[in-house]
Amino acid sequence: MIVETHPAKPSLEASSPFEMRVHLGEDVPDTDVRSALKTGDMGFLHSFTTGSAVDGPGIRLVAWTTACMFRCQYCHNPDTWTLTNGIPVTLEQAIEEVQIYANGLRAMGGGFTLSGGEPLMQARFAARLFHAVKAMRVHTAIETNGYYGDRLTDDELRTIDLVILDMKAFTRSQHERVTGGLHNEDVLEFCNRLSQLKRPMWLRYVLVPGLTDIPEEMEAVANFGYSLGVVERVEILPFHQMGRYKWERLNLDYKVERTISPTREEVAKAIAIFRSAGLDAS
Ligand code: SF4
Repeated sequence: MIVETHPAKPSLEASSPFEMRVHLGEDVPDTDVRSALKTGDMGFLHSFTTGSAVDGPGIRLVAWTTACMFRCQYCHNPDTWTLTNGIPVTLEQAIEEVQIYANGLRAMGGGFTLSGGEPLMQARFAARLFHAVKAMRVHTAIETNGYYGDRLTDDELRTIDLVILDMKAFTRSQHERVTGGLHNEDVLEFCNRLSQLKRPMWLRYVLVPGLTDIPEEMEAVANFGYSLGVVERVEILPFHQMGRYKWERLNLDYKVERTISPTREEVAKAIAIFRSAGLDAS
């Protein structure tokens, strides 16, 4: 497959995923897109960012994929919902990009994280990239909503050292409310599978006043997380408005336009709920 790089296209590296990126893969023919999804020979990426300290242990190189099946009301990066908003990158190019930083990542006790969007929308690309990065002896992590966890085999899951699961909700109705109508049966099933395989997990929970700050819901997520026996830590992420301009520029209906960030006390309360379930939360 030949991928032509348009001269006007931005660099694969970005200062942060909050950079707005659209239409960058639209000139890839449909047949090549289908082939890429089937084989993983090519992926679509918003960007690579370096030096992240918040996407897994240590300092991370992060590749941000495009495409997501959820429509979370609070999503910070709705430009990553669409596959062809991303830059087409061959698997070899992506591997080379990680190779550049491999020594440093190992030396600093960091690693490589695949995030999104939802990385498992491009499961073949993700699986093959993780396989290659693991061969470099670099720590690997995925940030996922878990909905397509069944797209990875058990062996493929073993090439991922850490699964950072973005838990939207525990009850089906709340999950549908937050994500724009998608259920979470497959997410919970994926978590149970990771537990059976004894794969290390972190849980993330975005605290959005008026949407996700429901004590009973957080208790249910916390108790479920504890029951898995593999959750090493929980991160409560306070909602913020940094992604707002993307919703406006994409002309999307931003339901949390007037929502403000939770207070310190509200964050502390959420953390306490997860801690009282026996989890290491912060
Ligand atoms: S799962 Fe993540 S990328 Fe997808 S809509 Fe939700 S917050 Fe956005």
